[in-house]
Amino acid sequence: MSRMSRTSYSITNKSALMEIRTSPPPILEEDDKKYQILHFSHPQHTLLQITLPSLFTCMGCKEFGAGNRFKCLQCDFELHEFCAMAPPSLKSHSLHSQHSLIFFTKPVKGGNLRSSCDVCSKSIKGYAFRCSTCNFSMHPCCAQLSWEMNFPVHAHNLKLLSSTMSATGDSDFFCYECKRKRSGRVYRCGVCDHYHLHAVCAKNMVNGLYVNGIKAPENPSKFGKVVGVASHVILGLVGGLLESIGEGVGEALFDTMR
Ligand SMILES: [Zn+2]
Ligand SMILES: [Zn+2]
Ligand SMILES: [Zn+2]
Ligand SMILES: [Zn+2]
Ligand SMILES: [Zn+2]
Ligand SMILES: [Zn+2]
Repeated sequence: MSRMSRTSYSITNKSALMEIRTSPPPILEEDDKKYQILHFSHPQHTLLQITLPSLFTCMGCKEFGAGNRFKCLQCDFELHEFCAMAPPSLKSHSLHSQHSLIFFTKPVKGGNLRSSCDVCSKSIKGYAFRCSTCNFSMHPCCAQLSWEMNFPVHAHNLKLLSSTMSATGDSDFFCYECKRKRSGRVYRCGVCDHYHLHAVCAKNMVNGLYVNGIKAPENPSKFGKVVGVASHVILGLVGGLLESIGEGVGEALFDTMR
């Protein structure tokens, strides 16, 4: 694949993923920072990079999002920015640095590949990064998390506890965000020892829900239509997308959160 000019295609406003904006204005026209792409999972229409405050279900990973997205202007098809821009592989991601991770477009049934995410423990229903060597799998949204991060809900940096600590100490953790017992990995503040945050709750701070004041609906079936996209999904890696927007953009998007 020929490498296209990075400067003309780079996504300049990457910090927006963690920026706190209470009411982002809808951007309805294309400017030099917005992109129209033809995505392999929805080849019939072009998708526009757009910021809307409303909740949506990403047709790639089947998880919620708000704010930044790629949206079809002719039908309901929407993708997270990080799903639309997902690179074919991630090398030395901070949550699984020992092996490289491969982008998959559909859940794997059977075999030894997990059907739930090793970070948030929720099931994987669409796009995922999976380890080429071991069983590790995670949602594209969870790939936006890193082992040490600052979240808008707490003043100090939080560090992700090891998976064994998260599992064995489950009942002792009190998540300040949901105040509930949930499975999955857990962040802890290194300064105030008592502050914990589930990775699944931290996700809402990287998928746009938190900054747009949206609580994730508990029952996904009550929101949106997730079914009916299978016929549009073309199996395979994101080669087509990368050809159209230039190699390196997707990886750059994932680099920002490390
Ligand atoms: Zn997605
Ligand atoms: Zn469409
Ligand atoms: Zn996950
Ligand atoms: Zn691995
Ligand atoms: Zn929580
Ligand atoms: Zn703290």
